[in-house]
Amino acid sequence: MAAKKILVLGGALSGPAAATRARETDPEAEITLVGRAKGVNPALDALALRLSGEVSDSRRLEPRRPGYYRNVYGIEVKTGVTVQAIDAEKKKVKTDDGTLAYDALVYALGAQTVWPEVDGLEGASNASALDSVKDLRRVEQLLKQGKKKPPVTILGGGPTGVAAADALARRGAKVTLVEHSRQLLPGFSAPAAARAAKALEARGVEVWLSAAPDVAHRRKRRVRQIQLTDGRTVDTELVLVATGIAPRSELLAEAGAELRDDRTVAIDERCATTLPDVYAAGGVVASVHAITRKPVWTGSAADADKSAQVAGANAAGGERTLSPTLGTTIVRAGDLTLARAGQTSPDLRISIVPGTPTDRSLGDRSKVALTLYFDPKERLRGAEAFGTGGVVERIRVLATAAQGKLRLEQLADLDLGHAATHGPVRDVVNVAGRVASRGVAPVVPWRAVDLDPPPEGVMVIDVRASKARKRGRNAPAGAKHIRLPRLREKAKDFQSQKWVVFVCDTGREAYLAATIAHGLGVNEPGYLSGGLAHFDAELERPV
Ligand SMILES: Cc1cc2nc3c(=O)[nH]c(=O)nc-3n(C[C@H](O)[C@H](O)[C@H](O)COP(=O)(O)OP(=O)(O)OC[C@H]3O[C@@H](n4cnc5c(N)ncnc54)[C@H](O)[C@@H]3O)c2cc1C
Repeated sequence: MAAKKILVLGGALSGPAAATRARETDPEAEITLVGRAKGVNPALDALALRLSGEVSDSRRLEPRRPGYYRNVYGIEVKTGVTVQAIDAEKKKVKTDDGTLAYDALVYALGAQTVWPEVDGLEGASNASALDSVKDLRRVEQLLKQGKKKPPVTILGGGPTGVAAADALARRGAKVTLVEHSRQLLPGFSAPAAARAAKALEARGVEVWLSAAPDVAHRRKRRVRQIQLTDGRTVDTELVLVATGIAPRSELLAEAGAELRDDRTVAIDERCATTLPDVYAAGGVVASVHAITRKPVWTGSAADADKSAQVAGANAAGGERTLSPTLGTTIVRAGDLTLARAGQTSPDLRISIVPGTPTDRSLGDRSKVALTLYFDPKERLRGAEAFGTGGVVERIRVLATAAQGKLRLEQLADLDLGHAATHGPVRDVVNVAGRVASRGVAPVVPWRAVDLDPPPEGVMVIDVRASKARKRGRNAPAGAKHIRLPRLREKAKDFQSQKWVVFVCDTGREAYLAATIAHGLGVNEPGYLSGGLAHFDAELERPV
């Protein structure tokens, strides 16, 4: 029998992953990988790190040569070849280098930046997206031509825009980050996004929110100034466009494949498209969300890699199915790391718990704040974490716990091990599980929105020390002040109240106060979850 012809389109992350899995599944198949870029399997997620100088040599972004795939996997690699059309009936693909026949096809052409409609932007010689190594080279060239501290404008405050702003600020550029919505990083909570903005500002980045670019004023082909719809202007030598991406699904759609509303290619759990023997993977497909069970397009590298392995194996005759995604996202903004996983919608119950990720004896001042999202049965559905240390470690535990549908109490008792070099005995994940589970005492987490202003009949008690009150944020209107150590002695001031909510800066002392109040006979005492530190940001007021 003739060897099966497997054709894989796309030479970045998913294409090579699919092709190598296909080889592992079928040692005899004739496998060809086609990509239009010069290199193969670039580390696109590290492009920003090249801009910051953390990747010292751009050759490190493409460690694998096409010859590696040829020699190790027996895969024919065609670089610099652009796919033009797919004939699904005749099972042929037209490229600018001739026609290729297939028995099974993997479509992995990824996603690309969608440019905003800004007068004068498109076609400008100093405006670029950051979708490829080619884009990176262009941006580096433009940066070399300019001043020592070139003014750079980044359009779009999603993960790519934030990573680019962080990187360019580390390099010493004068960065303005322009985001049209009220917060950076859609998908993250307002408090987390507000911290990201602050962390970037601490690095010298100017963050402009609710700011929509209107006109790119040009001298010849170069943009010199960006004007916003509100009339503000920013001078610029380079414009980086990071206003969101869209799947490159058009070639498959033209071939007759079904697309979903978000323009991703419709696939089944085997990554098969609606066309015979055509599979799709990577940035061009959505995955099923592990918690909501609805399809979700994350555009993440981890999801791309997983679908690529499934598509590659099945194109070669395997029987693999695609696992659901948690949409786990990790972003760096200055000294802050932010991460989220699972379902983090505001209609779920939440508990915000700040903590220290390292043992205090080390004198490390790093901090981490966790927000758990859970259902009325106290099953974890998602989590968010941000802080200056230990964020990624915690979100990975919480992602696993959400996927396993752990109950909060199980989270509280999870054995996460201990060494003084790596954190306190009671990890913040355990603490968060305990606090949220109401296992210790039936105390109720309250949110900022519920206390702005406090509803009638609710007594708010600020338990901070006087110094902390002076330094910190204002308590909600009408709050009474009783310092935590005096709570027992002042019990009669609040014992007879129907609703009592304690507040402090972080939520920790307030939680403790609520457990004490419960012991003193108060029914379901409340505390401000996340503390006043989250208060303004949660209400979307500038912090
Ligand atoms: C700057 C940047 C930073 C990122 N950071 C992260 C991160 O921190 N974490 C994370 O999870 N994800 C990150 N991502 C997303 C991640 O890189 C993508 O999920 C991943 O690249 C998707 O891989 P893919 O192979 O499916 O698609 P792509 O990477 O989009 O690759 C598609 C390939 O197909 C080629 N191609 C397109 N059209 C044709 C054609 N007609 N003919 C031939 N070839 C064609 C393209 O040249 C490209 O090489 C980042 C992406 C970028 C650009």
